[in-house]
Amino acid sequence: MRRKDLTFFRKLLTRRLEELLMEAEKTKNTVKAAEESSSDPMDQASNQLERDFLLRLRDRESKLMVKIKEALERIEDGTFGECEECGEEISLKRLRARPMATLCIHCKHEQEALEKKNGVEKPTKLSPLWSPA
Ligand SMILES: [Zn+2]
Repeated sequence: MRRKDLTFFRKLLTRRLEELLMEAEKTKNTVKAAEESSSDPMDQASNQLERDFLLRLRDRESKLMVKIKEALERIEDGTFGECEECGEEISLKRLRARPMATLCIHCKHEQEALEKKNGVEKPTKLSPLWSPA
């Protein structure tokens, strides 16, 4: 991959990681605030719901952060944009849409077909641009 493209993806991923870190910090504070607020049982119930939601969100965020960090590591060690399965280059078009992709479109399709056959459940849908696949 050309240096120019690598720089583009490094910037893109770094920025997204920073955003996620900020969001994670916000989530943490909100959970804390929910825990410390009102002792009213009704409030507590709704706080519990909110807290569960936020914890799930945080879980998803941290998984995404791991993916982004891995992609950044691949940029550093020069394997970014190579398919893990067949070693072919992943197209720039695909990487722009999914910067954390580790499979080329062919291997991805094969994997999906296999998952479908085996009935593997799809992970919760994220916005298309940032789903971990
Ligand atoms: Zn491949």
